[in-house]
Amino acid sequence: MIITSAKPLEEILALLKDEDDIFVIGCNVCAAKLKTGGEPEVLEICRRLEGHGKRVVGWALPTAACSVRSFESLAQKNEKINEAHCILVMGCGSGVSTVASVTEVPVYGSNNTLSLGGSSEGKLLSGQCIMCGNCTISEFGGLCSKSQCPKGLLNGPCGGAVDGMCEVNRENDCVWNLIYERLKKIKRLDLLYSIHAPQEHGFK
Ligand code: SF4
Ligand code: SF4
Repeated sequence: MIITSAKPLEEILALLKDEDDIFVIGCNVCAAKLKTGGEPEVLEICRRLEGHGKRVVGWALPTAACSVRSFESLAQKNEKINEAHCILVMGCGSGVSTVASVTEVPVYGSNNTLSLGGSSEGKLLSGQCIMCGNCTISEFGGLCSKSQCPKGLLNGPCGGAVDGMCEVNRENDCVWNLIYERLKKIKRLDLLYSIHAPQEHGFK
């Protein structure tokens, strides 16, 4: 899941200051789950834009903004898109760029894209992966130190953790503590004897 947060309305209005005849596209996957681009949020932004004097020609909620097949597939959901002079996408950056690839009109995004995360048991998990292009997560019990250790350490902890909490961000568990406990539980502490060479993670 791509983690997004909604931009403040003032910022969206500033983006759209020279625009009118706006078509709004939500995203019924990640953004809907995060309440940054599902149907209620789409209807709300339409209402608020109109409240600020903007004409909204229509809206659509494709399954995922990042997998829009074509302009025609969007028009099938709402042909009013043909009247649009610009499009506001309520998805992640990938959704915005995917929509931009199928239309000639200006495309804007209403969200900030924060990280690759997930959700489980009602909890939002952010920053689970930085898409480094060289995945080592299987060697660490399904936990990623590149994304969850602020120092991105690959060969064990820095030694600064206090009571299992990270010295950089004291509200977070030290991921290396979690990795150790996980590997111990699954009887794979042997994996910690492998030495990992430095990687340019984060810079593919
Ligand atoms: S090792 Fe790289 S690809 Fe694998 S989860 Fe971590 S950041 Fe993502
Ligand atoms: S305390 Fe743990 S998570 Fe925090 S920087 Fe050190 S090794 Fe990384």
